[in-house]
Amino acid sequence: MTDSEVRVRVAPSPTGDPHVGTAYQALFNYAFARSRGGKFILRIEDTDRARSTPQSEAAILEALGWLGLKWDEGPDIGGPHGPYRQSERAAIYREHVQILLDQGNAYRCFLSREELERMRAEQRDKGLPAFKDLEGRQRPEEESRRRAEAGEPFTVRMKTPLDGECVIDDLLHGEVRKDWASIDDQIILKSDGFPTYHLANVVDDHLMGITHVIRGEEWINSVPKHLELYRFFGWKPPVFCHLPLLRNNDKNRSKLSKRKNPTSILYYRRAGFLPQALLNFLGLLGWSMPGEEEKFTLEEMIAAFRLEDINLGGPVFDVQKLKWLNGRYIREDYDAAGLRRELEKWAINPETLEKILPLAQPRLMTLSDWGYLTAFFFADEVPLDPQALELKGRSDEDLARLFQIAVWKLEALRDFRSETLEALFAELAEQAGLKLRDLTRPFYVALTGRSAATPLYQSMEILGSDMVRMRLRRAIDALGGLSAKKLKALEKEFASRR
Ligand code: GLU
Repeated sequence: MTDSEVRVRVAPSPTGDPHVGTAYQALFNYAFARSRGGKFILRIEDTDRARSTPQSEAAILEALGWLGLKWDEGPDIGGPHGPYRQSERAAIYREHVQILLDQGNAYRCFLSREELERMRAEQRDKGLPAFKDLEGRQRPEEESRRRAEAGEPFTVRMKTPLDGECVIDDLLHGEVRKDWASIDDQIILKSDGFPTYHLANVVDDHLMGITHVIRGEEWINSVPKHLELYRFFGWKPPVFCHLPLLRNNDKNRSKLSKRKNPTSILYYRRAGFLPQALLNFLGLLGWSMPGEEEKFTLEEMIAAFRLEDINLGGPVFDVQKLKWLNGRYIREDYDAAGLRRELEKWAINPETLEKILPLAQPRLMTLSDWGYLTAFFFADEVPLDPQALELKGRSDEDLARLFQIAVWKLEALRDFRSETLEALFAELAEQAGLKLRDLTRPFYVALTGRSAATPLYQSMEILGSDMVRMRLRRAIDALGGLSAKKLKALEKEFASRR
């Protein structure tokens, strides 16, 4: 293979905030592509129609753009292998599913949810760890097609071997072996006619000419199924390289989670981190410069980058270290004029001031009140007085639960305008059996650090969704936090009420 043929991609699903894990993968793919004179592609994997949103896709593009990881082909700029949004490729996937059906390497599965549960349990009792629809696998194609044409709902599953072993070769993990008996007959086409991740991912990686699949370790168990799909189609699989999972800086080094760490790229922008510092920090996770320098530019990283040097020991996402590095950038790389430009880009600019002015004006006695009144707009953390964080007649835990529910509701919100927020709080108050005024008081404290400030909903709109949710999470911690168990129970309750 010549260097010019290297083609890699990052393939985020647009469900929620643009995640630092996506930035991490994008950076390593980008550095590899650039170091080999290859191409870096952005593909949007939005086959989960219930969870994908255009807002989330836009935020991903914005976040990667802010970081300066420019893609050569993607949904916004097109390219020779488009479209780059999976929802626009449905016909391609159906065609490929048909090929597998015709080959007899896939079959329709007509089991209802209940039947599926029952058979799964039966197979588990017999000591079969994975699910295979044994009847479906043998049903004559004639009969299967007739039932489908008569309108019976079905999914399509790929046939995985019943026994034997699959050996996969990963650039970093080496040889990994899996028993086929432990691998489900994966659904490749859902009953809504959309493909699952597995099929779409393999078809697209092939059609887009991807040579190296560099992605998170959580996908390594999917490789046997993917290899089998490559084999069915008669395609050469790409090189697989699974990056280590990012970890929280906690005792058990748990998987990076937003409960313990901010994970939205756009939060870091709002909190005043510099994109080059965040990239540098991500570059230090599982990789280091040959001379162990801690501060380096993207260009320097590209010049020194080799995929095989990545270290699998779980890299810790330590925000304190990121802050330290960011501080070095601010101190070492800017003169006063340069720093002023960064501050202007960030938040000290006419657009932001014009949004705040009408909210502040009625509350100013002197011009100098401005600083105190509006400081929370230009901060990351606000001082939290746990005493002031209280909800009339309710316990701290009740308040923490309420904050958490608000976080979830805000997360699901498609637009973050004050009118929408007002409606959301009215609903929240009603559900909690509270007067709106009593409900909003602790929110003022959590978001502004004071019990009274500029109007809540407009202020939230200016702070933005990422910062608002981050401050609410900090308030939950200040109230003693919610244990994983309580959080799970609450989540269940919340989901059932929606
Ligand atoms: N859509 C998958 C994700 O969100 C992509 C995984 C892959 O790179 O294959 O992580």
